Amino acid sequence: MFLCFFVCLPISADTLLKRSLLDEISFVEINESLKPNDFCTENPIISQQIIDVGTRLGVQLISGQPLLAKKDATYEALHGSLGTIVVSPRYMSPSVRCQLITHEFIHVLQHLRGDLKAVIPMGWPIPSNAILRFGSLQEAEAYVYQNKAALVLKYLLFIERNILND
Ligand SMILES: [Zn+2]
Repeated sequence: MFLCFFVCLPISADTLLKRSLLDEISFVEINESLKPNDFCTENPIISQQIIDVGTRLGVQLISGQPLLAKKDATYEALHGSLGTIVVSPRYMSPSVRCQLITHEFIHVLQHLRGDLKAVIPMGWPIPSNAILRFGSLQEAEAYVYQNKAALVLKYLLFIERNILND
């Protein structure tokens, strides 16, 4: 789940440049190369690598009650800067926690794709009923791909190498 603490404005031409850089990553290539150890269900400790690169990029991760009631985690997006992931301190299995973290970092990627001015979908393929089931395209992507931790990790590493250093 994500929250915008700003009005999501239309995307500017400047944004499109960064979006096209992010779009240079080959989703298909990464997605098809995933091994069992790249999934939260098989290797939940992989989420620590996501947290480490996310922290280096400037995403805050805190333990606490998410602002949205009954949610175990949220990404609180700010206008013009990376936001904060709030994860409930309640017990959850390592696999569930890994998927929750991966889910919220998909919203971080969507925020980066919106040049930190909007949270826009990555354009990853999703089943046709997913928007209806999860409420929005952004949430549908986050739920459908939350087990694929290495996919999100590879995007974050690409961003660290290429985008924020420009
Ligand atoms: Zn979400």
